[in-house]
Amino acid sequence: MKHYGFDAPFIDHDSIYGLLDVAKNTPDEEMTRILDKADRLEGLTHQEVACLISTHSPDHIQRIFQIANKIKHHIYGDRIVLFAPLYISDHCVNNCLYCGFNCNHKYERKKLTLDEVREEVRLLEAMGHKRLAVEAGEDPVNCPIEYVLDVLKTIYDMKFENGDIRRCNVNIAATTVEDYRALHEAGIGTYILFQETYHRPTYEAVHAGGPKKDYFYHLTAFDRAMQGGIDDVGAGVLFGLYDYRFEVIALMMHGEHLEKEYGVGFHTISVPRIQKADGADLGVARYIPTDEDFLKLVAVLRLAVPYTGIIISTRESLEMRKKLLQIGISQISGGSTVEVGGYQKREHKSTQFELADNRPASEVIDWLLDQGVVPSFCTACYRKGRTGDRFMSLAKTGNIKNVCLPNALVTLQEYACDYGSEEFKRKTERLIALQLPNIKSEAMRETTKHNIEAIKAGARDLYV
Ligand code: SF4
Ligand code: SF4
Repeated sequence: MKHYGFDAPFIDHDSIYGLLDVAKNTPDEEMTRILDKADRLEGLTHQEVACLISTHSPDHIQRIFQIANKIKHHIYGDRIVLFAPLYISDHCVNNCLYCGFNCNHKYERKKLTLDEVREEVRLLEAMGHKRLAVEAGEDPVNCPIEYVLDVLKTIYDMKFENGDIRRCNVNIAATTVEDYRALHEAGIGTYILFQETYHRPTYEAVHAGGPKKDYFYHLTAFDRAMQGGIDDVGAGVLFGLYDYRFEVIALMMHGEHLEKEYGVGFHTISVPRIQKADGADLGVARYIPTDEDFLKLVAVLRLAVPYTGIIISTRESLEMRKKLLQIGISQISGGSTVEVGGYQKREHKSTQFELADNRPASEVIDWLLDQGVVPSFCTACYRKGRTGDRFMSLAKTGNIKNVCLPNALVTLQEYACDYGSEEFKRKTERLIALQLPNIKSEAMRETTKHNIEAIKAGARDLYV
């Protein structure tokens, strides 16, 4: 078998094939040992993940879901963090066959002017969003790093009656250490980059042209980001391009590599499943996981990295989002558009992919409340300097939840005061009363109550 791992030793393809071969026949006692370890919230190695992701035993799968649900409640409680994507440019020099922005798709491209950025951000803020993911295609001429930095400064400089955008995560193409340093200095939250597929032959086939075709350069982007000072990185796989079992094991190997080299693994993992898009070729999606397999893989990730945020987007239907919430998703987007200038309801041009959940943000937030979930607009860690290893040490000891729920309740109260109807305010009041006892430390409970009252009295942007 060809050895594909020559220039990327931390994703050794032969070793993944070998693990998948052996994992099919994992003895029951070994499965029990792995599941017990996951149940103790100790996380899993990529070898252990190989065993879980390969199982088709209904008993094992049921236990995986039970443990995922337990971890979700133990670590994340009932809160879920909300964010919105902001597409600033769809100029792209790459030919990624699965994406509507690929350079062979002929339509009129758009890059937002800074005034248009302000208008989009004004609309996002009016929906209550405090956390954005800034997204752009790769085009060094039409969308250079200087433009991205200008956009970030524009967003962070904006102040509204009800506050401001408090955290911008950034999802732009793999770049140099110098560019990452500039992004770090601009105050980005997480640098997000999807590997799309870790399987090199597939990667090279679906990236038919452009700089992104370079598997090794793309794969080592987080190394350069960390060398440039960014210590929160968010990974992702576009599920459907290759065998999900291979992808999940490789994802774990990538995280282990960063942990070993820089002392910090992934801050978040995104789990998009491939969707139709105008101008994209769905023929490349020969491995779309079934709903059952998709739920299993998300649950296995929850067991493997209990303290890493898992993000789903509006690509998933309402029904799937409901199920995914139960097994450990910790962040979702709401009221999203995946179109440049989309929030201004401009003339429809082209989108990166189709959405399955088109509800406006207010409906998503209301729906979460009705599920007993606390929608959180928290951005505290990044602003408190709890990033990288500081964040991880808090996360891995389980202490992060002592600040997540207080911040979720206070930011929800802020949202209710600034954007909620009278009915929404009543629902919020009930949910907060139900959730306050879940804050274990009495001192923190008192601080939270105090902050909630202060918000009602007009204070803003309180966090611990
Ligand atoms: Fe461009 Fe990204 Fe789409 Fe590829 S996935 S065509 S890099 S926007
Ligand atoms: Fe995220 Fe930190 Fe806020 Fe928890 S406290 S929701 S980890 S930013």
